[in-house]
Amino acid sequence: KKPKLLISECLCGVSCRYDGKDNYIGKLPLLKEMFDLVPVCPEVLGGLSTPRDPAERQGERICTANGTDVTKEFLIGAQNTLDIAFQNECNRALMKAKSPSCGYKRIYDGTFSKTLRDGHGCTVEALLKNNIEVYTEDDIDLLIEEKKR
Ligand code: SF4
Repeated sequence: KKPKLLISECLCGVSCRYDGKDNYIGKLPLLKEMFDLVPVCPEVLGGLSTPRDPAERQGERICTANGTDVTKEFLIGAQNTLDIAFQNECNRALMKAKSPSCGYKRIYDGTFSKTLRDGHGCTVEALLKNNIEVYTEDDIDLLIEEKKR
């Protein structure tokens, strides 16, 4: 039986990004061979539509580029994602780097100027608090190596 891997849905080629595009990763077929994938898009799970205005974390709040506070939707999305991770017994997640939901270690700084700061997206924050190991598309090789061990 393959281990489960929670994965940002846009990395699987689903057009759920704010701009209606996706972030398909070339190693998806390999990941499918190794893991039972559990795709999630926290922003869609929070009730937001696609396409939608881009949003960034501004301290504890998440706001769109035109100033709408979407914190509530992002937090609902984080909780729904966590519930799916628990239901599927996922203890690893491969998440889209830099996103205000899915980003790990580095995210946009809230000024909508493509500037990064240290920090996690709010869904990743919830996953980490619940001891789910997080990787991004930048460290797929590491994820593959660690799975082999
Ligand atoms: Fe991808 Fe996450 Fe953004 Fe959804 S919320 S589009 S899964 S980065």
